[in-house]
Amino acid sequence: MTPKIPCVHCGQDWLQKYQLKGTREIFWACPECESLWLEDQDTSEETDLYISEFLESKGIGWDHAEKAM
Ligand SMILES: [Zn+2]
Repeated sequence: MTPKIPCVHCGQDWLQKYQLKGTREIFWACPECESLWLEDQDTSEETDLYISEFLESKGIGWDHAEKAM
């Protein structure tokens, strides 16, 4: 089981693990505030990334990400 990681940004939800189709890149995101942590970032510290900006910077949409186990 993946340990539950609370969102340090909003404190309202647990982080979900996602994976990009194709590159298999892993990231963590909060469903509540859409904060995003890359796999090598410390999820116990604040992030300044957001899902929408992250996907936009890659020129892709949500359909390129899927929940990872
Ligand atoms: Zn959050």
